[in-house]
Amino acid sequence: MGTAIGIEAARREVLARVRALPAEEVGLEQALGRRLAVDAVADAPFQPFDNSAMDGFAVRAADIAEASGEAPVALRVVDESRAGHPAAGAVGAGEAIAISTGAMLPADADTVVRVEDTERDGADRVLVRAAVALGANVRRAGEDIVAGETVVRAGAELGPAELGALATIGLAAPLVHRRPRVAVVTSGDELTPPDRPLGPGGIRNSNSHTVPALAQLAGAEVVSVDWTPDEPAATREALGRALEADVAIVCGGVSVGPHDHVKGALADLGAEQVFWRVALRPGGPTWFGTRGEALAFGLPGNPVSVMVTFLLFVRPALLAMAGGDPAARRVAARLGAAFAKPHDRAEAVRCRLELDDRGWIARPLPRQGSHVLTSMLAADCLALVPAERDGLAAGEAVSVELLDRAT
Ligand code: AMP
Ligand code: MG
Repeated sequence: MGTAIGIEAARREVLARVRALPAEEVGLEQALGRRLAVDAVADAPFQPFDNSAMDGFAVRAADIAEASGEAPVALRVVDESRAGHPAAGAVGAGEAIAISTGAMLPADADTVVRVEDTERDGADRVLVRAAVALGANVRRAGEDIVAGETVVRAGAELGPAELGALATIGLAAPLVHRRPRVAVVTSGDELTPPDRPLGPGGIRNSNSHTVPALAQLAGAEVVSVDWTPDEPAATREALGRALEADVAIVCGGVSVGPHDHVKGALADLGAEQVFWRVALRPGGPTWFGTRGEALAFGLPGNPVSVMVTFLLFVRPALLAMAGGDPAARRVAARLGAAFAKPHDRAEAVRCRLELDDRGWIARPLPRQGSHVLTSMLAADCLALVPAERDGLAAGEAVSVELLDRAT
């Protein structure tokens, strides 16, 4: 049967077999959640020209140095600069050009007076009631981005701000990594879809919903969600189809029971085992192997085990394939309460995160059974208590794997 592999070693074995998928150009509208394959570099400054931060008047500061409420300075209004419509001429001595927020600063103007500090005096005169500092209310070209600057780095996940930044530098179709294609198979005679009545001994198939959702949140494209009964030929058939994807994930049937056919089917299909059994609770009987370029994971079927082993072993692979950093979801925390466990395996403890002035605290949730799926509803991380410890005291440092949920 072989001895169980440690959780960090298992993760290394997985990542050693993963490469970032090839890049493709994708329109910004389709790029949310994708990861950049190359640095996005600005070829021009942003903003592209000096412009006004306020609605008001572009002036020469020297002209209004003495202006005040009691002694306003009158300037001749010679033109207007609107957003998208620069003024044709320059601001001469004793002159002003009306200007809108974001409009180009006219030539020879150095300062903008807010409209609130002025009073219009007929069509072509303005009274300035305040002296403002040289350069006030002017946004300089390149204040945000200079030409040649890397604006979004390779590997970054494209969220709203990144998409906006790419649009700003005129990158309409960024080069992003292909999403890993994931096929999910659930196995078990007892499994019943949520819209069907339960027969004798039946339970609802929750993994066929948790696992595809986890895969999508990790940046994958779920190409199929299949089910197989506990029967060797049917299992082989379902896994054969799943192995056409980049990553095949089989849930359940990887243990040692007489009706567990997944390992046998994977062997029949030419998948080579890298490890089976991880020194971990929940999630001990996890199987991992490869066939050609495809990765295959056999995850234990208990609803919590499947989520834990996905987060610890499958998600890092998907993140790396999509061009991301598999370590990005690990943070350091302190355990919020003492936790005791046997010596020989790591324990992934469902926890709620809290922040105090010294950092993150992972507070273990009650009911840690591997079948208690509702305990995942309150969890936002897994605290990883190492195999070589009998437990941890309250306040001890612990490594934490974050769930993909907003807290
Ligand atoms: P197995 O890994 O197949 O031995 O299953 C372990 C436990 O998880 C059993 O109680 C199964 O009924 C349950 N289980 C397996 N697959 C699923 C699933 N897709 N959804 C919900 N529970 C499952
Ligand atoms: Mg089963």
